[in-house]
Amino acid sequence: MTRQNTVTPSGALDPLPALDHLSEIAIAVFETHLSHAERCVGCGTSWPCEQVVLAHHNLAVL
Ligand SMILES: [Zn+2]
Repeated sequence: MTRQNTVTPSGALDPLPALDHLSEIAIAVFETHLSHAERCVGCGTSWPCEQVVLAHHNLAVL
């Protein structure tokens, strides 16, 4: 009697690489989106731009 037991480990998704990736993105954003005269040098919108705000949120949850 052959019985297939396909148990998928619940911890299959390792969150650490994803978090590393998030912090890398955030750092890249901080390097390119800089404040200059109340404007973002990176995307030209008013400071703080959406990208920087998102990056701050990303780092806050790490
Ligand atoms: Zn920007």
